[in-house]
Amino acid sequence: MIQETTKHSSSSVQACQNCKKDFTIESEDFNYYEKIKVPAPTWCPECRAIRRISCTNSWSLFWRNCAKCDKKMLSMFPASQKITTYCQPCWWGDSWDGTEYAMDYDPDRSFLDQVKELSEKTPYATLETEYLTLKNCEYNNGIAFSKDCYMSAWADFCESAYYSSILNGLKFSSDCLRAWESELCYESIGINGSYRTFFSDGVGECVDVWFSRNCYSCTNCFGCVNLRGASYQIFNVQYSKEEYFEKLKEMKLNSRSSLKEWDKKARAFWLTQPYREYHGNSLNVNVTGEYVYQSRNSKEAYISSYVENSKYTQLITVASTKDCYDYSGWGNGVELLYECVQSGNGVSNSKFASHCFSDVTNTEYSHWSIGAKNNFGCVNLKRKSYCILNKQYSKEEYEKLKIEIIEDMKKRPYVDELGRTYSYGEFFHVGFGKFAYNNSNANRFFPKTKEEALSEGYTWNNEEPAMHKISIEASVIPDTIETTTDSILDEVIGCMSCKRGYKIVRGELDLLRKMGLPLPHDCSKCRENRRFTQMNKPGLYHRSCAKCSLPIYTPYTKGRPEIVYCVKCYQAEFA
Ligand SMILES: [Zn+2]
Ligand SMILES: [Zn+2]
Ligand SMILES: [Zn+2]
Ligand SMILES: [Zn+2]
Repeated sequence: MIQETTKHSSSSVQACQNCKKDFTIESEDFNYYEKIKVPAPTWCPECRAIRRISCTNSWSLFWRNCAKCDKKMLSMFPASQKITTYCQPCWWGDSWDGTEYAMDYDPDRSFLDQVKELSEKTPYATLETEYLTLKNCEYNNGIAFSKDCYMSAWADFCESAYYSSILNGLKFSSDCLRAWESELCYESIGINGSYRTFFSDGVGECVDVWFSRNCYSCTNCFGCVNLRGASYQIFNVQYSKEEYFEKLKEMKLNSRSSLKEWDKKARAFWLTQPYREYHGNSLNVNVTGEYVYQSRNSKEAYISSYVENSKYTQLITVASTKDCYDYSGWGNGVELLYECVQSGNGVSNSKFASHCFSDVTNTEYSHWSIGAKNNFGCVNLKRKSYCILNKQYSKEEYEKLKIEIIEDMKKRPYVDELGRTYSYGEFFHVGFGKFAYNNSNANRFFPKTKEEALSEGYTWNNEEPAMHKISIEASVIPDTIETTTDSILDEVIGCMSCKRGYKIVRGELDLLRKMGLPLPHDCSKCRENRRFTQMNKPGLYHRSCAKCSLPIYTPYTKGRPEIVYCVKCYQAEFA
């Protein structure tokens, strides 16, 4: 953790204000809190993560009209929600900057209550993007520095990525999840530096690999597990080059029905082979977590790459992240962030911030403050400094009032309907976020029932997405791409799983033709949901290595069917 002279020599156990379960604050944590001048948290790490991530929505999109120009647009907010939203050009345009909604601080009211009031009257961007860095990416959310993408989310530096999520540098690919620097890939999860990788999970530097798991530097492999630098293997059995291609031809990989059979066989074979303690690579030094790569001295990380001296980070996809605690998304040159979410691309020394991105520093209790420098309690504000509640102050006035407000927050904390108190040092209260729990990213990673969510003070959206009139059932669409004609672009196909209608778009069809793969039988939502269920959720458990019996700290609970090896045993066997 943060390498400092140890001031606290002991840890402390306390009950979480939200779930009432005990959690431990380690001495290293106390040192961090002291360093960034915040009191210790009163919520446990998991409840803190849920509270933060519930303020974000990358995957639930609706149609609604812009409040400024009336254009119909894809939106994170359902049409029925009472909130002002602008389309991308209107939100990012120069006709307003957020100071129009400035409020004077009222010392007789709780400060967070005043931030909430501001959050209810300022206009929101319809989607969360770095709009000015995008080209032809109108139908994507959580995207920056990309072009020609379609229905992808949480993506940076991508080109022609379709129906994919959590990406950095994915090109000409479709239906991928957690994909880094890869091209021409389909239905794969956790891929890095790969080319033509299909229906695989956890592969790096692979080319022409099918239905494989945990393989590195492999070429032309099918249904393989835990291989390094292999070629022409099928279910881990070596073949000659000629035999391999002969076998592949017999497998009919252009046919959807045979792909479904191979998928079943491969997944059954995967389970017979050992799993690594957690998904990560040998470039990690002193880390715990799941899906952690190229990171050092970081604990309890989840989907985190290039993270250093940090703890409780999630969804960090772009280098680099240093000295951060309780930070959820997305990196790209950030340091000293605490309780921040969806705040990346050059952000430093900031706390309790959500959607404060691109060149932000010394910003606290702000929500959607773009390019913010020294802002406190601001919402939907663009490129401003020394603002409080969107009101402009001089540097001196700002510093003085900020200290006053922090003292007031400690004396008169915000108290929510369930009696939970939010003093200075806590993230925004439950109910501050603008998304229903089931539409928020929190439900992806920490699923709750409607009753559970409501009992914790979160909201729930009961709306069902509109049904499209189906013109053809998935069961009768062609089994191969060779027999699929362009007329499919005019059809609304009935999904095999949810029965809703879905369409095939031009770019997707072209891509599938290039890869020689059939059209999917299920709608993009069902495909996306399936990929997410195939991924481990946050949370680590103590059990023992299946080989040496030493204790391991792993995302696989005891009852799971996987054979789990500690990192040492796994590396000894598979390098
Ligand atoms: Zn808790
Ligand atoms: Zn507009
Ligand atoms: Zn479906
Ligand atoms: Zn072991």
